[in-house]
Amino acid sequence: KMNTDLGQHILKNPGVADAIVAKASLKQSDIVLEVGPGTGNLTTRILSQVKKCIAVEMDPRMAAELTKRVQGTPSQKKLDVLLGDVIKTTLPYFDVCISNTPYQISSPLVFKLLAQQPAPRVCLLMFQREFAMRLFAKPGDKLYSRLSVNAQMWAKIDHVMRVGKANFNPPPQVESSVVRITPIVPRPRIGFEEWDGLLRICFVRKNKTLRSSFLGTTSVMALIESNYRTWCAQNDVILDDSPLDTQEEEMAGVEEEEDEWEGFMDVDEDEDKDDLPEFFKEERARRAEAKRSGTKRKRKGRVSELVRQKVLRVLEGCELSEKRARMCDQNDFLRMLEAFNGEGIHFA
Ligand code: SAM
Repeated sequence: KMNTDLGQHILKNPGVADAIVAKASLKQSDIVLEVGPGTGNLTTRILSQVKKCIAVEMDPRMAAELTKRVQGTPSQKKLDVLLGDVIKTTLPYFDVCISNTPYQISSPLVFKLLAQQPAPRVCLLMFQREFAMRLFAKPGDKLYSRLSVNAQMWAKIDHVMRVGKANFNPPPQVESSVVRITPIVPRPRIGFEEWDGLLRICFVRKNKTLRSSFLGTTSVMALIESNYRTWCAQNDVILDDSPLDTQEEEMAGVEEEEDEWEGFMDVDEDEDKDDLPEFFKEERARRAEAKRSGTKRKRKGRVSELVRQKVLRVLEGCELSEKRARMCDQNDFLRMLEAFNGEGIHFA
């Protein structure tokens, strides 16, 4: 009995299983990580070609069945079964990752594999078709997202083959695709957290101008200000944080930002729903509360104004303030990150 909550769709077409493993171009010396081995249709094929396979499986019944399947065969001593959730598991060293991926963990698994160091040589992963398309979406495409930018920053992505629903038992709701992710070596010299931190901000509302994604979003500015204060403390920069009085405030141009909040509470269809940053959720809750109790926003201090000006200078200096994240390419994000860092603004 399959547990579809765990994304258990067993690959029943041996030709497809052979093809996936063949596309990984395994070497006899390889250590392979398999995510979600299930009953072992891919695992047995992997084991016959490599030195070792580490299979991470969450369902103890599946893990038991797999262990039984290889028992007494020459493959037995090459297989390590790790019982648990792969997302919460600290992964050991591996050369290649192969997975008929449970669809619920597609996004966190890709991020985990992209962050893995040393990077694997190659990953062959079966995904739902639409998720696969997000991985290689280009600026302006409907499916272009933070996932697309990240995947293409750290890896080369190829579509390997389409796999119809009928190849699985039970058949899933949608079509699937096998994707090859080849991490770029040497790794670009940019911090993963720093880069992803910037992308998170830009893609919360990918159809808004960057100016409004940054300056019009109180929680984003608060986060940037807090990071900036930390950076200043670490670099012995002393900040004057006396409050701006009302007159000065007007002169400094600190008016209430035009209400970017219109519609902010609504869930947007472009939102990466599984993937909203904490600060954004918190802000939504705060907004709802402020709206209910009629609280007005607090007056800003000098540091807030300084940070605001820095952010504006970066966006305008890069000529990106009126551009929308959905149209920005990798080079735009790289230029933006470099300019922010140059102003002492960090995202990790
Ligand atoms: N590899 C098998 C095949 O191709 O026939 C089964 C693939 S099935 C789509 C996904 C497998 O991943 C299931 O066995 C499921 O129990 C397991 N699984 C689900 N979530 C998991 C997680 N978070 N960590 C590890 N395994 C997981």
